[in-house]
Amino acid sequence: MFLPVKRWFAVAFLASAIAISQKAYAADNWKIIKVRGSDYLSVDNISQFYGLPAGMAASGEKVEFETVKNPLEFVSGSREVMINGARSWLCFPVIEQDGKYLVSRTDVAKTIEPLVRPHRVQNVGKVQTVVLDPGHGGYDRGQVSRFGYEKDFALDVARKLRPLLQAKGLRVIMTRESDYFVPLEVRAQIANAARDSIFVSIHFNATNDDPNATGFEIFSFTPRGAPSTSDSAVAPSALSTQPGSTVDAQSMALSACIYHSLLGHLPEFDRGIKRARFAVLRLTKVPAVLIEGGFLTEKGECKLIAQKDWRARLAHAIGVGIESYRALGIKKQPPLLVADYRKQIKSSPTDFVVPDAELKEADTSLMELVGKSKFLPAQQTSTPRASLESAPIVP
Ligand SMILES: [Zn+2]
Repeated sequence: MFLPVKRWFAVAFLASAIAISQKAYAADNWKIIKVRGSDYLSVDNISQFYGLPAGMAASGEKVEFETVKNPLEFVSGSREVMINGARSWLCFPVIEQDGKYLVSRTDVAKTIEPLVRPHRVQNVGKVQTVVLDPGHGGYDRGQVSRFGYEKDFALDVARKLRPLLQAKGLRVIMTRESDYFVPLEVRAQIANAARDSIFVSIHFNATNDDPNATGFEIFSFTPRGAPSTSDSAVAPSALSTQPGSTVDAQSMALSACIYHSLLGHLPEFDRGIKRARFAVLRLTKVPAVLIEGGFLTEKGECKLIAQKDWRARLAHAIGVGIESYRALGIKKQPPLLVADYRKQIKSSPTDFVVPDAELKEADTSLMELVGKSKFLPAQQTSTPRASLESAPIVP
């Protein structure tokens, strides 16, 4: 007997939710609520399923690591959500109906599940080769600050990161070794050709809209049928909901591991774990993320990025995040979170000592800069300038 299509998806969703759960959850653990033909789950239901307290912030309320109390903190009417102390962006806004807050089924499966339980993702952490992709190169300078070009900063971070990964026994391939341009599809092909590889693209940010915008963000590929984070929110009823690949969940797990390490190691503004259809993310068939390591258009942050010590810290934090991702496949335990890293760093401040007198001096001034830089409320979009991150692919 054939089930109607929508019914089939509901059954498939429940089946996968049960399969990934080690506890024997009955199918009625998920109570699907239909809203204008789309499937939603209540925040209470999600909280019960994961055994995690969930809070609901009012729209416009500031949600940050320092103030957030619950492992799951949703924002009414928004796509913004704090998961284990780091910001993330749902595909669809949380809606309210009959006094209940509802989250789209797509987001429970595609955003919440891999971020809450990355260690349960199928084939997670399977990595022998890390393909490091320093953004831009050659004639494509990327974004520009008065201290230099994005292409040079990105290459330097990758060069600093390579030996850290090699020391952990990982094979490292760089999509470019120096200042030349590599087509985006070639970068993806390099990752696709390597066995058990992950793809980590390194960029710096810029915006024309807001000279005060600062902070980190990380992207993985937008699930099929969903809008990207920078798109205006679209109702799920307007889109087809199709099951994604297992690589999608792995990419989210990789995003979470790297992002928590970045935020845990460096006192930067949390712009969040986001989704985009950047060419390099679309064309890679392996777990892939694109890191935006701060804004070249903000006067404090562009100075940080120009410091080689700061870039060494960035490389270190990304390296720890990659190692954390690999550990998921071995330990099958949740990864360290932003709070864990911050605790670790407090207890062993020597981690932060840079043995170069010249860099130490730069270091003092850069901590001042961090203190002074204006951390703005989270913004959903940074409106990147025309750049190759999102350039269409010419076949
Ligand atoms: Zn870039």
